[in-house]
Amino acid sequence: MPELTFLGAAGTVTGAKFLLEGGGARLLLECGMFQGLRELRDRNWQALPVAPRALDAVLLSHAHVDHSGYLPRLARDGFAGPIYCSPGTADLLRIMLLDAARLQEEEAEYRNRTGATRHAPALPLFDAGDAERALGLVRPVGFGQRFAPARGVEAAFRPAGHILGASIVEVTAAGRQVVYSGDLGRYGVPVMRDPAPVESAGTLLVESTYGDRLHPAGDGTEAIEQAVGRAVAQRGLLLIPAFAVGRTQEILYRLRELEDAGRIPGLAIYLDSPMGIEATVVYARHTEEHDAAARRVTSEGGRPFVPARFHLSRSTEDSRRLNDLDGPAIVVAGSGMATGGRILHHLRRRLPDRRTTVLFVGYQAAGTRGRLLRDGADQVRIFGEEVPVRAAILVTDALSAHADRDEILRWLRGFRRPPATTYVVHGEPGAARALRGAVQGALGWRCRVAEDGQRVAV
Ligand SMILES: [Zn+2]
Repeated sequence: MPELTFLGAAGTVTGAKFLLEGGGARLLLECGMFQGLRELRDRNWQALPVAPRALDAVLLSHAHVDHSGYLPRLARDGFAGPIYCSPGTADLLRIMLLDAARLQEEEAEYRNRTGATRHAPALPLFDAGDAERALGLVRPVGFGQRFAPARGVEAAFRPAGHILGASIVEVTAAGRQVVYSGDLGRYGVPVMRDPAPVESAGTLLVESTYGDRLHPAGDGTEAIEQAVGRAVAQRGLLLIPAFAVGRTQEILYRLRELEDAGRIPGLAIYLDSPMGIEATVVYARHTEEHDAAARRVTSEGGRPFVPARFHLSRSTEDSRRLNDLDGPAIVVAGSGMATGGRILHHLRRRLPDRRTTVLFVGYQAAGTRGRLLRDGADQVRIFGEEVPVRAAILVTDALSAHADRDEILRWLRGFRRPPATTYVVHGEPGAARALRGAVQGALGWRCRVAEDGQRVAV
């Protein structure tokens, strides 16, 4: 009987890695990096309980680093098998992994330069060469196409609606069917289509990032409208920390939509993120994944992700020039949780200014600067400096790329019969427990919260 081992994203949201062994095959579902708190990040340095070269293949749900960011390390440590994912994921993966490698190299270099290291010399977890090695192993497979990642194993991807390319993964090994939700998107949101229904599973792995809450009513456009309104009234900057992939394109799409509807004026909008720019190009190109509304914009000659006064800020020079920018204007920059990236320079400069508005539009993990700001910190540390917070900090969860509790239940109701066992993964402990309770209560299914390191029969 095949067995599944939870090697990450169990009791936490990052580091997703699920080892599936059966019928002589050994697959890794996801290959994510741990992020956030130090004790989690330290786990990236621990060897996996399975030798990378003993793996037949990796199956990837989507390109976010908490699902894919360990791939370069896996390749560095000897993995040379195929990495299967959807075509959209393959294109985004190139952007994500090269960026992750650059961050690793920069951090190691910084630690060596400043002596801020317990190891001498500090080393990157992987470098650009390792990322290229991993990218060379990628095998894109279209949605709905069945493929054989290893002898005796069948698999297919279906759209999960979370970001471009995001997939629900179905694997059948030794006659047992495992379905993994990946990160589930939402119903009726712009650009992406709804999560595809799945009818059956022997064992189901379901994510629970927002398993303990409901997104507010509305689609988040009110929050953007309000934030833009404040920037206009204050003649200040609106800073939107946003993940370069997914959230940035959704923000641009909504800003363009609000402008078209005459709900906000056409302010100067700066996309201050080389990675965000690349990802926007990928999003625009993969029209086969766009929903009906986005297709309509394109067919009418419009550009779904391009607001009226749109500026691309590619070089560091371009970015530095924004220091002198007068409001009202909008700057979209990474990282989404303010843990790094160009948004830090803008926050350091603009947080002490009352005219500034900051709009958080995504999940803020424990231990991040974004979480501190969102929780009302009156100062935050940036580049070793205590920066007072006088800006207005606005938050919306309505723009989440993750299904909330009821949306997860809606997707689960698409099953014709209950899976034999459902394991809740990819959530902080409270969220995971809450979702288990909801699944047991609302559906009467046999449901467990996956435990870190746990090995189960499927
Ligand atoms: Zn994700």
